[in-house]
Amino acid sequence: MRDFPNFIQPPLYATDQEKQFSDVLIEFNKQQPGYLKYIVHTENMRRIAALRRLLGKDQVNASNNPQLFNVITKLCKGLGVNMPIVFTYGNRDIAAITDVMSSGGACELFVENNAFTLGTKDSLYIFVSEELINSTQLNENELLVLIAHEVGHAMANHSLRTLTYQSNFIQYIVDIDAKNKIKKMMSDKSFSRLQEVTADRAALIACRNVDYVCSMLDKLGKVHPELMDYDDSESDHPNNRKRIEMIRLFAKSQLYAECIERIDGFPVDKSRYIYTESDLQVHIMRII
Ligand SMILES: [Zn+2]
Repeated sequence: MRDFPNFIQPPLYATDQEKQFSDVLIEFNKQQPGYLKYIVHTENMRRIAALRRLLGKDQVNASNNPQLFNVITKLCKGLGVNMPIVFTYGNRDIAAITDVMSSGGACELFVENNAFTLGTKDSLYIFVSEELINSTQLNENELLVLIAHEVGHAMANHSLRTLTYQSNFIQYIVDIDAKNKIKKMMSDKSFSRLQEVTADRAALIACRNVDYVCSMLDKLGKVHPELMDYDDSESDHPNNRKRIEMIRLFAKSQLYAECIERIDGFPVDKSRYIYTESDLQVHIMRII
């Protein structure tokens, strides 16, 4: 089980709240070694098998979609991660999936204009709707941002939050404080909004240009104006105006510089990055 802390450890760019959540899970794993990873693997394998059978498609590769494949290889280099398996789906696939999987979380995500992952750091896979790519008319840089955001969710093991909840694993946590902490995080919508912040950070690290992230969010906002500036206090996604504000702050932070430094393996001049990690955290909590 020695690899478990690595598996659960959030990426450097994750928000503080997620780091606390992971600490509780690491502690839990000491009591029930391997239990969480078993749940994750079982669930991932079940989902991938079901969804692949339904889609009956090959993953995006160099011959069936060279443009998207090129985007994926580029983003992995920027983010310093392995290649994810990416599937695209169309409206006919949605109909087939809805017919067969009338219940279960995956079905709700398989809708028009969506990109999502249920994967984890160990199992990087992403689904993108063809309609989203077509309707938003994203250029290559923005497409990279869109996919890298999903890779960010998987790298930070965001699906663990739902899985641990569904598997009712908290009943095994002995420490009352830890139990309460985790219950609170699971019911707190702002925690889920912070996960979006983390995923946007991954997208920026992958493309290295904050304007690309902002223009992707702008384009999504043009197709779906309701995403731009709604009251998000009860939502699990921050509105796009806030996402733009928060990613611009991260782009000027020392944490961002440090991430790049680690991935690229050479020093970055930090004088251009004005916010310390704690400044950044204060700003984010004010906005979220
Ligand atoms: Zn997201």
